[in-house]
Amino acid sequence: MSSHGLNPDPPLHVFFFPFMIPGHLIPISDMARLFSVRGCRSTLVSTPAIEPVLSRSIETTRKSGHEIDIVIVKLPLEEVGLSPEHGDLKNLPGNDRDMRDKFFRAVRLLDRQLECLLEEHRPDCLVSDVFLHWTADVAAKFGIPRIVFHGSGNFPLAASDCVWRYEPHKKVSSDSEQFFIPNLPGEITMTRSKLPDFIREETPFTELYRKVKESEQRSFGVIFNSFYELEPNYVDYYRNGLGRRTWQIGPLLLCNKGEEDKAFRGEQASIDREKCLNWLDLREPNSVVYICFGSMANFNPAQLHEIAVGLESSGQNFIWVVKKNPDGEEGKQWLPEGYEERTSARGLIIRGWAPQVLILDHVAVGAFVTHCGWNSTLEGISAGVPMVTWPVAAEQFYNEKLLTELLGVGVPVGAKQWVRGTGDNVSAGSVEKAVSRVMKGEEGEGLRTRVKALSEQAKRAVEEGGSSYADYYRLMDELRGCKPRT
Ligand code: UDP
Repeated sequence: MSSHGLNPDPPLHVFFFPFMIPGHLIPISDMARLFSVRGCRSTLVSTPAIEPVLSRSIETTRKSGHEIDIVIVKLPLEEVGLSPEHGDLKNLPGNDRDMRDKFFRAVRLLDRQLECLLEEHRPDCLVSDVFLHWTADVAAKFGIPRIVFHGSGNFPLAASDCVWRYEPHKKVSSDSEQFFIPNLPGEITMTRSKLPDFIREETPFTELYRKVKESEQRSFGVIFNSFYELEPNYVDYYRNGLGRRTWQIGPLLLCNKGEEDKAFRGEQASIDREKCLNWLDLREPNSVVYICFGSMANFNPAQLHEIAVGLESSGQNFIWVVKKNPDGEEGKQWLPEGYEERTSARGLIIRGWAPQVLILDHVAVGAFVTHCGWNSTLEGISAGVPMVTWPVAAEQFYNEKLLTELLGVGVPVGAKQWVRGTGDNVSAGSVEKAVSRVMKGEEGEGLRTRVKALSEQAKRAVEEGGSSYADYYRLMDELRGCKPRT
């Protein structure tokens, strides 16, 4: 019998240990909140740099009386040659490999502190980020299950696994020659230029990736921020082909019911919530293009200029999110002369952080130009907004395939090259064309109809009787089974 409903057992105590970047900590804090609302005791492990964000994100859950808490571990930044202000990975220069490697070394040194916390709190389970591979050993010392959280989907992970195993990219003669990904259901093609640098060549990250894969095998299972209906063949592949125990319990973002929770995700928004909603309220349904490239991508001024021109010539309303200081030292030329004045009646530029989920959920939004981060992908789908796909790095080129070729809810802008931080060069003409394809005509209608249907499926999945709801309680039963009888 399922353990939900009448349940005399004490609540399960689950530790959640996120990696310290928005794309990873946002879904883990959603997960910790979901578990606590459904009766678990949740404890988030945080560094001082991300603590304010985590505290704020769990505020409403805590205030409504659910058991959720934060404990602190301190990164030994100086020990690895970084200074105290480097505690926030997203603020490290995107292309500085050396600093990133040092950051990862500091994270690796957290094992003793984690042991002390587990000793003190004695939780029943540790859900930890994929990059914290060493937590599998720490959890084993305490005899508790460690569950991996990748922050990505079944399709991108299955595809990367097949590329890693069978190395089809080593059998082509150029970066642009297409190859099929062996053993992956669906005849999926790829090119070497779209693969991560650490797959194309041996980097310190390749070694980390190896350790991540080994530690997944030693872990109890994998929690996915996904739902079965989104990628059924690849959920099955991950379970049966790779032989992993997995639970699909998402989209986790749908646990954010109120405006307050939807508005605060990962950072304080740089625009007043009311101002943003009022601006959208004045626009027709499906008439606004929302453009945002997540938390890590950082386009150069020349690329921003191309986007500006493309948006203007598309003639559409838009909300465009740009990093706070895109000009850097290179001058102030990323916007064409007089741009904001000319487009003031139909365009809004947010400099900094946008309340993305709130915006996507507004009826006025008709398209999402996205870098295809997994969270943004799920947010677009859940809101039922068709997408222009513009992958930059990480596993985003696989996510683009899922959106465009497998689900038919997006069109590619034409990015062809994986480049950390700055991405491939895309012309204004390509931006205009892709935006028009999504916003107008029969093709746009088809995309919209399909993504709306998926959005309904996503919502049903997390409700009672839905697939993600059922998987969550299956996980609870399995965790109870691991608990020593007292
Ligand atoms: N996000 C946001 N406002 C912004 C930029 C990003 O709320 O201005 C959120 C976005 O909604 C998503 C997360 O940050 O939840 C980014 O994660 P994703 O996996 O899409 O991309 P990453 O930042 O990891 O590349």
